[in-house]
Amino acid sequence: MIRTRSVCLALALLVASAAAACGKVGSPPTKGPATDRLPHYQVAQGFRLPGSPTWERARKRGYFVVGAKEDQPYLGEKDPATGVYSGFDIEIARMMSASLGLSPKTIRFLTIASANRETALQNGQIDYYAGTYTINALRKKLVGFAGPYFMAGQDLLVRQDEHGIDGPRDLDGKRVCSVAGSTPYQRIKKEYPKAVLVAYDTYSVCVDNLLTYQVDAVTTDDAILIGFAAKAPKELRVVGRPFSKEPYGIGVPRGDNALRFALDDALEARIKDGDWKKAFEATLGLSGVPAPTPPAIDRYPAKGDGFTNSEGSSGGNSAGGGS
Ligand code: GLU
Repeated sequence: MIRTRSVCLALALLVASAAAACGKVGSPPTKGPATDRLPHYQVAQGFRLPGSPTWERARKRGYFVVGAKEDQPYLGEKDPATGVYSGFDIEIARMMSASLGLSPKTIRFLTIASANRETALQNGQIDYYAGTYTINALRKKLVGFAGPYFMAGQDLLVRQDEHGIDGPRDLDGKRVCSVAGSTPYQRIKKEYPKAVLVAYDTYSVCVDNLLTYQVDAVTTDDAILIGFAAKAPKELRVVGRPFSKEPYGIGVPRGDNALRFALDDALEARIKDGDWKKAFEATLGLSGVPAPTPPAIDRYPAKGDGFTNSEGSSGGNSAGGGS
């Protein structure tokens, strides 16, 4: 989870030092990470994963098709002019491709909204998914998860002129925006039923609604909200009291345990060799967040063929809900 106090401090420092370069106080880079700062991932030579139908299919086609987000600052963003995706989740996807023997340059990214992730993995539209995807028990009945590779927590984004919202208990009668099919949406619906919940497909639409006074707060993971706040620091702030655990995993087709375990191995190796930290600093780190210690990989066992209903631990997100 992100410690917002140090974030604020770091953000203030970042903004001060970036002011000269950007020419405008409070404007971190808007085009996403500088490509020359991104790590170069060594592509594994002669890698084979015969037990994975997903990997075999990707190898035959020559590239991975990866599901991602396109509107989440520093995590998963698509440059509308070039179509190029960037951000921490994108780097995770790229380093995984390299570890599985296919050049990250060949990846085809596909934007998939929160509510459509399970279907996209189930119907083979994508090979794996990297986009602020919380591992939980409910979702593990539908897809597999490698990781976690990052720990976020649900938080609130409000306007700077909002003084009445300090936590989810203050949401009674307030208009709160989140994304359909997300764990934060489910949590508010279930645990804070007096909030007036508004749902869209993407968080950027929620943020637009917040800036134009259509809603009073946006709720999702702190990692996502901090990115939006960093892009509009005069208008927006993160409340900074996370009230859940959101362990991010790489979604894979359920039952493809060979792929899941290979991704677990790859994540472990990238954490160990420093690529994870370099990737973080070149992306999400730009929002002012210092690189945290990544959570331990939860290599939950393959039960039978992977399609049984009894699931292992959920990575700590029992209140998850959502699909
Ligand atoms: N991590 C949460 C989830 O998986 C919220 C972010 C998102 O919607 O991607 O639902």
